[in-house]
Amino acid sequence: MVRIQVTEHRFINIHRSSLCDNCSVQNCTSLIDSRVTDCRDFKPIFSVFLKCRACGRIYDPYRSLCSLDYELCPECNHSVDNAPSITFVCRE
Ligand SMILES: [Zn+2]
Repeated sequence: MVRIQVTEHRFINIHRSSLCDNCSVQNCTSLIDSRVTDCRDFKPIFSVFLKCRACGRIYDPYRSLCSLDYELCPECNHSVDNAPSITFVCRE
C-alpha cells in the first residue's frame, strides 16, 4: 500500500495489489484473485489528480497502479521501467 499526500491535510492510501481494492463500486464483477490494473467502471472513493514531477502532466494516480514512483505520471514511469507487464482488464 502506498500513502500519497494530495493536499496539505489529506492523504489517500492506494492499494497496489489490484485496482479493485481501491474501488468504491459494490458487487463488482471483476476477476477474482487476479490483478486488475484497468477498469472502465472504476470509481475511487476520492477523485485524486496529481501533477507529474517530470513533465507537469495532470494524472490520476489510480491509473498508474503499477508505477514505481507515484510522483511521476504513467508515461514518465514507463520511460523509467520498460519491462513488459501483464495487464488484466476488469470487464463484465
Ligand atoms: Zn510525466
